Amino acid sequence: MVKKDIKAYNLQQLKQEMLALGEKEFRAKQIYEWIHKKQIEDFKEMTNISEDFKEKLKERFYLVTLKPLKIQVSKLDGTTKYLFELSDGSRIESVWMKYHHGNSVCISSQAGCRMGCRFCASTLDGLTRSLEVSEMLDQIYRIQRLTKERVDNVVVMGMGEPFDNYENLLRFIELLTDENGLNISQRNLTVSTCGLTEKIRELAEEKLQITLAISLHASNDDLRKQLMPVANRYSMKELMEACQYYFKKTGRRITFEYSLIHEVNDKIEYAHELAGWIRHMNCHVNLIPVNPIKERDFKQSQKKEILNFKNKLENYGINVTIRREMGGDIDGACGQLRKSYHNEQKEKENESCGCMGKQI
Ligand code: SAH
Repeated sequence: MVKKDIKAYNLQQLKQEMLALGEKEFRAKQIYEWIHKKQIEDFKEMTNISEDFKEKLKERFYLVTLKPLKIQVSKLDGTTKYLFELSDGSRIESVWMKYHHGNSVCISSQAGCRMGCRFCASTLDGLTRSLEVSEMLDQIYRIQRLTKERVDNVVVMGMGEPFDNYENLLRFIELLTDENGLNISQRNLTVSTCGLTEKIRELAEEKLQITLAISLHASNDDLRKQLMPVANRYSMKELMEACQYYFKKTGRRITFEYSLIHEVNDKIEYAHELAGWIRHMNCHVNLIPVNPIKERDFKQSQKKEILNFKNKLENYGINVTIRREMGGDIDGACGQLRKSYHNEQKEKENESCGCMGKQI
């Protein structure tokens, strides 16, 4: 019998599964709470379920539990980066951050990424695969268990492009915000995309209260194409129209992310050009000093340039924040920990067997 992923079911579906097993419907709620509220790692933790029934469950279902391979804690601010291994050996990253307004977890939606943004480490080895709903949820569940602290906010800004895993993203949102589970409010969830416009429009129809963040990083098509291959598929104009549509349908203010790269996209005229696109929109700009990765020679903009860029946008009445750098002493940016872990492993293999460049 092919086992099923029990963490991917919503309560209604779990009820159907219980009935099909000849069990009472109320069992579904008990099991659902063990999985999503108490975030158990093993069926044996279900103490109000008989041994016989647990055996029956184990025959039919498996419980996805991610294995922490490496945990890096920042000495500067306690930001913690987790490298998790999935059951097929793929690796993903998640980050735990403590802010004044609560605890945030940044999760991955895919192992690797195929979007190819030039400054991003997640995309260097391409896409391995999209994550299952259970694998997205379990990043949060494991971290909550390991830290013994409540997760208040979730951002889908780790490895991968969430809209390239759209169906699972929707189911993930449903389960994460379910009152019978972790019960995170939609308003405490942010999903970041490089801008797949048809999916922005599709999501608008769901009328969710989540925050949509758009990775813009440029103020015109030519510049954006240099940094993000996805700009060859969607123009700035199409992207902005999709954002306006999203706002019209949901009433939710859009966040634009702009990673500032020294002498690439940080000129003051770009701030002016950007304002031309967004100053009449209900939006917010998050300026991110680019996190340099060693495979590319992009450098962070200087403090003065970042402030000038911010001031210019503010002069147009645009809401701007500069993202506080978290975990600057650990492999902070998306995909960096996984990449450096892989490189480390490669070096170890090379030392032991003397072969060169063996991929893992
Ligand atoms: N694929 C999604 C979400 C993942 S990346 C997206 O593109 O939005 C989350 C954010 O971090 C994106 O804005 C991305 O462009 C940015 N990012 C990736 N690598 C970075 C780096 N080295 N420095 C600064 N920002 C980076």
